[in-house]
Amino acid sequence: MNADYDLVVIGAGIHGAGIAQAAVARGHTVLVLEQRGIAAGTSSRSSKLIHGGLRYLEQFDLRLVRECLRERELLLRIAPRLVHLTPFYIPVYAHTRRRPWQVRAGLSLYALLGGLKAHACFQMLPRRQWDKLQGLRGDGLQAVFQYWDAQTDDAALTRTVMASAQTLGAELCMPATFEQAVADETGCEIDVTQAGNTRCVRARALVNATGPWVIRVAARIKPLPPQPPADLVQGTHIVLDQAIVTSIFYVEAPQDGRAIFIMPWHNHTTLVGTTETPFRGDDPARVKPLPEEQQYLLEVVRRYFPRAQASISASFAGLRVLPGGGSRAFKRSREIIFATDRPRQARVLSVYGGKLTSYRADAQQALRYLTDALPARRPIADTRTLPLEPA
Ligand SMILES: Cc1cc2nc3c(=O)[nH]c(=O)nc-3n(C[C@H](O)[C@H](O)[C@H](O)COP(=O)(O)OP(=O)(O)OC[C@H]3O[C@@H](n4cnc5c(N)ncnc54)[C@H](O)[C@@H]3O)c2cc1C
Repeated sequence: MNADYDLVVIGAGIHGAGIAQAAVARGHTVLVLEQRGIAAGTSSRSSKLIHGGLRYLEQFDLRLVRECLRERELLLRIAPRLVHLTPFYIPVYAHTRRRPWQVRAGLSLYALLGGLKAHACFQMLPRRQWDKLQGLRGDGLQAVFQYWDAQTDDAALTRTVMASAQTLGAELCMPATFEQAVADETGCEIDVTQAGNTRCVRARALVNATGPWVIRVAARIKPLPPQPPADLVQGTHIVLDQAIVTSIFYVEAPQDGRAIFIMPWHNHTTLVGTTETPFRGDDPARVKPLPEEQQYLLEVVRRYFPRAQASISASFAGLRVLPGGGSRAFKRSREIIFATDRPRQARVLSVYGGKLTSYRADAQQALRYLTDALPARRPIADTRTLPLEPA
C-alpha cells in the first residue's frame, strides 16, 4: 500500500470492482479495500441474471431497463465465457394476475427497448409444445411465452472484473478494513486496518461501494456526507438437489403475485428465488435465509412443478439497498443512487443499490461525479471493449 492514490474504493463487490476498473482504465492510480473477500457480500447472493428486468416495466423504470439491456448486449460480447443467453418461459394460468395480453405488451416493450435485435424477440409457444416443458403444471395453463435473457455466475464475474482492474494497475488490499476518513479541500485522509495495524492513506477521491454496509461506512466519513433514505431488504434463494428445469421459468407466486425465477444451476441443481423481506438485523454480515422464506419458495416450486421430488440442499440470502419508503419492496425502484459529499467538486461518493447487470455503465457514471476531484490522466483502456476472461 502506497501513501497516496487518485482514488480509494471501499468494497470489492461488483460496484467496487467496476469503479476500480473504470478508474484505472482512465489512467488513475487506484486502491481497493476489501474487508472479507471479493464478492463476499451481495455480489455472490444475487439471482445471477444479466437482464433488462422485465418486471421493472411494471414500475415504468424504462431508463433502467433500456440501460440494462444495452449492458447485457455488451457483456455478451466482451464476456462470452461468463454471460450466456438462455431461454426464459412465462406460463400464464387462469389464476395468475398478469393476463396474456399484459405479458405480451410487456414483452413487446422489452423487445423495443432491446433494440429489436434477434434475441430481443419473443414468441408465444404453440400448445403442441407445452408437454415439452419439463413437467410444468398443465391444468389451467392458458399461454406460455418464451423470450431471451442471460445468466452468469455473479461471484466469478466480480472476480474477473477485479482481476481486470488489477491487470491494468489497480491495487487490492484484502483483508483490509476501512475505519474512517476525513475529507478536506484537496482530498481525503483514510484510515485502513490491515493485520491489526492501522495506516493512513491519502486520495483525491473516495468511493463507498460497500453495498448493504453503505450507511454504516458513510457514518464514518467527516464531514458526514448526505445520506438518502434507504432500507435493507433481504432476498433469499433456495437450491434444490435436482435439476428440475433446463431453462429458466419465470412464474408468479400464488401467495402474493410476486415474480419468481426457477433456474437450472451448477451440478444438476435448481436455483429458486427470490423473496423480499425487510431486514431486521443490525449487521449485514449476519443475513440468513428465514424458514418461512424457504417454505414460500418451495411452495412456488410445488405449485408449478407438482411432480418434482427435489428438496432443499442449500440456501443463501443477500441484502438489497432500496429507496426508503412505505411501499412494498417489490414496487420500489431498482435504480442506482449516487450520493456525493457536495453538489459540485465532489470528493466522496457513496453507491446505494444498483444492478449487477449495469455495473459497467454505473461505474462510468460514478466517475463523472468525481471528474473535478480526479487529476487529468491519459486513458489506457476502454471498458466497453476490454475482454473479460475468467481466470
Ligand atoms: C437477492 C438479490 C438478487 C439480485 N439479483 C440480481 C440479478 O439477478 N441481476 C442483477 O443485475 N442484479 C441483481 N441484484 C442486485 C446486485 O446483486 C447488487 O446490486 C450488487 O451485487 C451489489 O454489489 P455491491 O458491490 O454494491 O455490494 P456488495 O457485493 O455487497 O459489496 C460490498 C463489499 O464491501 C465490503 N465492505 C463492507 N464494509 C467494508 C469496510 N468497512 N472495509 C472494507 N470493505 C468493506 C464487503 O465485504 C463487500 O464485499 C440482486 C440483489 C439481491 C439482494
